[in-house]
Amino acid sequence: MKIETIAQEGYERVAKCEDPESGLRAVIAVHDTTLGPALGGLRMWPYASWDDAIFDVLRLSKGMTYKSAVADTGLGGGKSVIIANPKTDKSEELFTAMGRFVDSFEGKYITAEDVGTSVADMIHVRKGTTRVTGLPRDMGSSGDPSPWTALGTFLGIKACLEEVYGDGSVKDRTVAIQGCGHVAMFLARQLAEEGAKLYLADIASEKATSLAEETGGTVVDPAKILSMECDVLSPNALGAVVNDETLPDFHTKIIAGAANNILLREEHGQRLKEAGILYAPDYVINAGGIINVSIEVEGEYDEDRARAKVENIYTALKRVFEIAKEQDISTNEASNHVAEERLKAGREKAGV
Ligand code: NAD
Repeated sequence: MKIETIAQEGYERVAKCEDPESGLRAVIAVHDTTLGPALGGLRMWPYASWDDAIFDVLRLSKGMTYKSAVADTGLGGGKSVIIANPKTDKSEELFTAMGRFVDSFEGKYITAEDVGTSVADMIHVRKGTTRVTGLPRDMGSSGDPSPWTALGTFLGIKACLEEVYGDGSVKDRTVAIQGCGHVAMFLARQLAEEGAKLYLADIASEKATSLAEETGGTVVDPAKILSMECDVLSPNALGAVVNDETLPDFHTKIIAGAANNILLREEHGQRLKEAGILYAPDYVINAGGIINVSIEVEGEYDEDRARAKVENIYTALKRVFEIAKEQDISTNEASNHVAEERLKAGREKAGV
């Protein structure tokens, strides 16, 4: 296994690994460990080049630093990527080798599942390192993060409703949900239980149909979901849904969903503010999964503690909205300020 450090300003350690025996080609980026060991998922994707993989892992690991800082998880930010096709290239040897690569960071980086990897893959990673989370509950781990991400998103939607309408109840509110995958499924159930009216869209139409049957929601064409007239638009599929093309055609007062990187660019947050649309910054509202995992990293996993901490997302968002109003800035800028303040305080405390 050949591990090579890549110098990268603003990052504590970035390294690439090539292991001809297992076929592993991977990169780990540790952005910042001021607030604790860097935790972030392992993504498997057929990147066209090393440069593409490095670009992605740098962007994602920095995002994890900010997410954990605002959620107060006691963790830093990191991420890893394997350059391979998750449909055809998975093997036990590959993930075990990845575990050994993770282990070479000596605890500075802790991994978990992400796009293209699963709990089953993490079991193989565990053969190469103990620095892995998100294993099955019966292995003493914190299990599937999606219900926790959904719980945080549900409470975040209530915080947004309270901010806009002075009443956080979802009863009779219309919520348009893009993507009916793991997170959205749990989210839709909670919203429906408390009386929300749902519009549901997924490019895999059978997922939207079955979730609509279960929740009494209405299936919508995926091409139309973003422009639905609704109280809350909840993106739970891919990123970059707020962009120059979509912005003029929103008919909502709130955008609040679990998808990562909802804004194509930071400036689109300002444009939402100007359009009078309240945006729940993605990494604040979707932190439920990482918060759940952080309980496992702290020591013995405790579901009640995880729930209490995920519930803080409501207050964290309200604080972000308050700062945005006080300083007349977009909500994404406000959440970046919160993260940067926490990192600054952490560095001062550590004397660095
Ligand atoms: P998932 O893959 O289970 O679900 C995504 C769904 O979106 C799929 O059903 C897919 O068919 C659908 N989809 C893709 N493109 C679409 C489009 N253009 N229109 C409509 N539907 C579309 O993923 P997930 O785990 O539910 O995660 C959803 C989002 O939340 C992702 O952006 C993920 O990065 C983010 N997120 C997830 C977690 C977690 O705990 N799972 C944590 C934080 C952030």
